[in-house]
Amino acid sequence: MNQNGFVYLVGAGPGDPELLTLKALRLIQEADVLVYDRLVSSGVLELVPESTERIYVGKSSGQHSLPQEEINALLVSLAQAGRKVVRLKGGDPYIFGRGSEEALYLLANGIGFEAVPGITSAAGCGAASGIPLTHRGLAHGVRFVTGHCRAGDDLDLNWASLADPDTTLVVYMGTANAEALTQNLIAAGLSPDTPAAAISNGTLPNQRTMLTTLAALPTDLASNGFKPPTLIIIGKVVSLAPELSASPASETMVHA
Ligand code: SAH
Repeated sequence: MNQNGFVYLVGAGPGDPELLTLKALRLIQEADVLVYDRLVSSGVLELVPESTERIYVGKSSGQHSLPQEEINALLVSLAQAGRKVVRLKGGDPYIFGRGSEEALYLLANGIGFEAVPGITSAAGCGAASGIPLTHRGLAHGVRFVTGHCRAGDDLDLNWASLADPDTTLVVYMGTANAEALTQNLIAAGLSPDTPAAAISNGTLPNQRTMLTTLAALPTDLASNGFKPPTLIIIGKVVSLAPELSASPASETMVHA
């Protein structure tokens, strides 16, 4: 008989605990041990029973307090001890969350796992700031990219394909490289006047939203002190935000 435990790779959503799936909530409540990241909000952690062991692995953009290999090994050893493990990640585990790397490692070590989707921050931040990611006549598609690259490396994206005025561009982990992002998109032909938004702590009580233009984005991010977790949305759909933002609790700054 297989004495091994099991690992659930669970998406915790963008922050607001009410945006957890029912499945995520059930698994959180049934887990023997919870392994979680920095992006998992305190409101979500409050739903974890007091008796559940919690292990913080503090992973956030660019800073991994526990290297990925050690997280992988930890998950395997917890499962090999026969425990039911919930590996809880911000947003969706398979969108810039390295959930699939963990899944491959579990697979290679003969550990059973299941991925449980979560609301990714693009969807959460869009809804919470009045920005639909697609809208008839404004955007017929949306792309999710990461603005993160290794220290010293240049941001290496396919700029020609990203500079499409009819597609919304969502940039995760984009604040540090906002300058390169903007310059490359404009050089590839995207209008400097394209509406752009930055949303930090989306769906949480301390959410901040800034509306600006592509050209002004890097300076506005810096002068308004936007820090991770911040999501950048670029495209004509951002122009709907003043009308559609239905979050009176959030602080909205409108530039340009
Ligand atoms: N798996 C996550 C993304 C992890 S990468 C997801 O599906 O959302 C981390 C990046 O996600 C952050 O740098 C930021 O760009 C974005 N992010 C995550 N949560 C966020 C939030 N509540 N508000 C704004 N951006 C967020």
